[in-house]
Amino acid sequence: MEIPFHKPYTDAEDINGVVGAIRSGWLTMGPQTIEFEQRFRKSVGAAQAVAVNSCTAAMHLALKAFNLQPGDEVIIPAMTFTATGEVVRYFNAVPVIVDVDKETHNILPEEIEKHITPKTRAIIPVHFGGQPADMNEILKITKKHHLKVLEDAAHCYPSFYQNKPIGCWGDITAFSFYATKTIACGEGGMATTENEQYATDMRVQRLHGISHDAWKRYSKEGSWYYEVIDAGYKYNMTDIQAALGLSQLDKAEKMWQLRSGVAQRYHEAFSSSPLIRIPLIKPDRQTSWHLYVIKLEIEKLKIGRNEFIDKLTQRNIKTSVHFIPLYRHPYYHKNFPVDWKKMKNSEWLYERIISLPIYPGMSDPEITFVIENVLEIARNHA
Ligand SMILES: *Cc1c(COP(=O)(O)O)cnc(C)c1O
Repeated sequence: MEIPFHKPYTDAEDINGVVGAIRSGWLTMGPQTIEFEQRFRKSVGAAQAVAVNSCTAAMHLALKAFNLQPGDEVIIPAMTFTATGEVVRYFNAVPVIVDVDKETHNILPEEIEKHITPKTRAIIPVHFGGQPADMNEILKITKKHHLKVLEDAAHCYPSFYQNKPIGCWGDITAFSFYATKTIACGEGGMATTENEQYATDMRVQRLHGISHDAWKRYSKEGSWYYEVIDAGYKYNMTDIQAALGLSQLDKAEKMWQLRSGVAQRYHEAFSSSPLIRIPLIKPDRQTSWHLYVIKLEIEKLKIGRNEFIDKLTQRNIKTSVHFIPLYRHPYYHKNFPVDWKKMKNSEWLYERIISLPIYPGMSDPEITFVIENVLEIARNHA
């Protein structure tokens, strides 16, 4: 048996949707993109949604809407993908990388407070693996210090914090529809916000800085005239992607149920093992189960995390590590060095974490195969 780390969940509806977009004769941003924005917006309870070609683009435009300036500081967690930090650098602003919680891998509110300076402008919490960060505590801090909150919700469709969906909490929330994410368009992203001005700004910036609804100029109701009001970006979504987004949205709940089922099986199998620590989900939140990250009890094992992964690979089970702490990457280490010893939890996690395969089409025998091999490798090296 061979278990990939991820497999996209696509069916005839997805194919028909994309074919329909192609047959419609409208290939780029158009009616399907607008419908995708509307349906997505409603499903997360947000007033505005702006579709773009990636979560990275959504975060870039969000920071632009905040009017981030060179030298401004933006606080981000260490356990994230480089996109969270790179968008800060697009402005020559400074990513301030802080430590995370040992159980949830999410940014620690007390670490945020510790790193606030007069230059701090914004915070980008990452909802790790789909489990929301401590939004109430974070929003309390940002209100007190007049900071903006951009949520990196790349893992989060669908996630809930205190029964309200992620997408309607911070100033702007950015979602990803990258191939491996919980809703996949191949590439794609969405920014949601309550703030109409932010949404208007992002709509202008995503299409060359052309005044609103420029995409209509090739449609029946459009006119030839438009105005460029800024040097914007080429970040729009296409109707081909949006068609896939719409059909994926239709089965998002079902896909979540299927991932939850995998997580449940893993929980049951690993919770009694003294060698493996299962992910902890806080009671007031619901994760999307984008990731299932176990922590090895390395003090009880004769092999380290890397060797453990090698052994899984030898048994045809593909896993991953989310994430290599951002400050360990050469770019960040060189330009924004932090003392690794002070990143206690991130370092502790980095030695222990393995992301196991979790995807909607995963069969029972596949799940069993992963479980048995993980437990066997652990036992063999205890
Ligand atoms: C995938 C990911 C992104 C980037 O998403 P794209 O749509 O590929 O730009 C950002 N942040 C995190 C935490 C991610 O995992």
